[in-house]
Amino acid sequence: MSTFDFDLFVIGAGSGGVRAARMAAAQGVRVAIVEDRYMGGTCVNVGCVPKKLYVYASHYREQFEEARGFGWNTSEVPFDWEVLRENKKNEIKRLNGIYQTLLDNSGAQIIEGRGRVIDPNTVAVGDKQYSAERILIATGGWPSVPDVPGKEHVLTSNEIFDLDSFPQRVLIVGGGYIAVEFAGIFAGLGAKTTQLYRGDLFLRGFDQEVREFVAEEMIKKHVDLRFNLNVEKVDKLESGELSVTLTDGTTMLTDAVLYATGRHANTQGLGLEDAGVSLQDNGSVIVNDYFQTSVPSIYALGDVIDRVQLTPVALAEGMMLVKHLYGSEEEKSAVSYDLIPTAVFSQPNIGTVGLTEEQARDQYAEISVYSSSFRALKHTLSGMEERTLMKMIVDRSTDHVVGVHMVGSEAGEIIQGIAVALKAGATKATFDQTIGVHPTAAEEFVTMRTPTRTYPQ
Ligand code: FAD
Ligand code: NDP
Repeated sequence: MSTFDFDLFVIGAGSGGVRAARMAAAQGVRVAIVEDRYMGGTCVNVGCVPKKLYVYASHYREQFEEARGFGWNTSEVPFDWEVLRENKKNEIKRLNGIYQTLLDNSGAQIIEGRGRVIDPNTVAVGDKQYSAERILIATGGWPSVPDVPGKEHVLTSNEIFDLDSFPQRVLIVGGGYIAVEFAGIFAGLGAKTTQLYRGDLFLRGFDQEVREFVAEEMIKKHVDLRFNLNVEKVDKLESGELSVTLTDGTTMLTDAVLYATGRHANTQGLGLEDAGVSLQDNGSVIVNDYFQTSVPSIYALGDVIDRVQLTPVALAEGMMLVKHLYGSEEEKSAVSYDLIPTAVFSQPNIGTVGLTEEQARDQYAEISVYSSSFRALKHTLSGMEERTLMKMIVDRSTDHVVGVHMVGSEAGEIIQGIAVALKAGATKATFDQTIGVHPTAAEEFVTMRTPTRTYPQ
């Protein structure tokens, strides 16, 4: 009989923590999970879910316009921010309840409050202390805003969903996932939107051709993209407007400034260092292949370990940890971080899996690149100038497809299936032998026959 209060004590009920807690409890493990803010964590409350709902909302403006070419006599339709915000809130409340029920039904004990590690087998919540054989840190991340003068006037993704009123002008700072997605959301909803990025071209780490293509498409959708620029300071005027001074000396007036400049691990005040847990310089927790920290009874996963900050990755890590700790020998394996598909819900979407053209050139002696850009069938009548890009990268020595990228409508949906093919080791010949679905954009992936570029040339 264990002398501990619990077998597993999870800190943080986000994507990774809930999945690990539920799976472990379902196997009869005595689990507690502590959460101090919201059930379901970032993804459900201030991340993936409300973001995607707002992306849907922002598409309607364009869809009303597109409809005219198909015979629908639409006129200017007013947008009501409050309706969107309140409907979103209700949906999130419903999801919070579902997470609560799932955890309750799994048998895990839910504790409300802020967890703090006291020693390798003790967690404090308020004035109570709980002992546990193992502790799992699944506390996620938090937006990080650089120290610019006037920082107190700017918003992050935590606040942006619940603004009291819709800002007519928005300045977005950053060039990663969140910045690009929110530039699309605000421009689509009708705000005059400017996106500022400190480097030459945003979306660093994505395929160069994809980055250039997305920039062109966003400009067509009236996002004012400004590269090689940053914020010097932000002043709040008596009118309530924000005056933003930029590094080129110019100023601009706006109603809201959204900083989307990355996220840091939520480890401050958690007591980890005192308990002997090693952290990276950026505060994230160092773990081995099985999510064990430098203290053998303490584990960590999800955004707090700063490997890949995506919900499906946190879920996979949670499941793998539970199998590793409580499963049979055959179930034990490490998480494979190869070929993780991802989508940026920019407008149009980016869907990507595998290597960029630049990475493939570095890693393989001979590659072929198949690339195609076209105006989707829908836009022949919609009148929209939006174009679609599809791209495949093939290792010529094995014929394996090592990277696939798409920019276009539903790229996120399409890339999921392509990722399965790549995981299964699909070659270019497999794609060529696959019959297309007609008429779709996705069929382009099985009909591209002539390389656009080969390396070496
Ligand atoms: P989290 O989900 O952040 O959960 C951590 C939980 O721990 C939180 O609920 C927090 O309140 C709690 N907590 C922290 N400290 C304590 C403590 N001391 N005591 C008690 N509780 C504590 N990913 C995708 O895959 N697709 C997307 O489309 C996507 N969109 C995103 C959009 C935005 C705006 C953001 C910010 C993120 C998005 N992500 C997306 C990333 C995704 O949300 C994260 O990768 C995911 O939530 C990580 O899960 P996690 O369990 O590690 O942490
Ligand atoms: P990212 O790390 O993706 O991007 C941060 C951006 O901010 C980069 O362009 C970076 O520039 C820039 N930046 C960093 N510091 C500064 C600074 N001091 N001044 C100006 N710019 C700066 O972070 P996000 O906040 O966009 O998102 C966090 C993570 O959440 C993502 O990486 C992703 O894993 C996840 N996410 C996933 C989504 C999805 O799956 N669709 C959607 C949203 C988030 P530089 O490139 O030059 O370093």
